[in-house]
Amino acid sequence: MDNTWRLVVFADECDEWGNCPICEIDYADCDCPGPTQEDEYEYQTVGDCLYARPLNGGDDGIS
Ligand SMILES: [Zn+2]
Repeated sequence: MDNTWRLVVFADECDEWGNCPICEIDYADCDCPGPTQEDEYEYQTVGDCLYARPLNGGDDGIS
């Protein structure tokens, strides 16, 4: 699993059709981390931006 930090997309950043500004597909279908997924992601704030990465993305090393 990819464990790089990715920009969190907030629902209110979506366009008038409800599409993600990064993926340009429906926010519900896109793969971007949201701001309330503490079960799945850890978060860090860099400047004014919130980034997330998967909690299980690195350490167990089982493939
Ligand atoms: Zn997206």
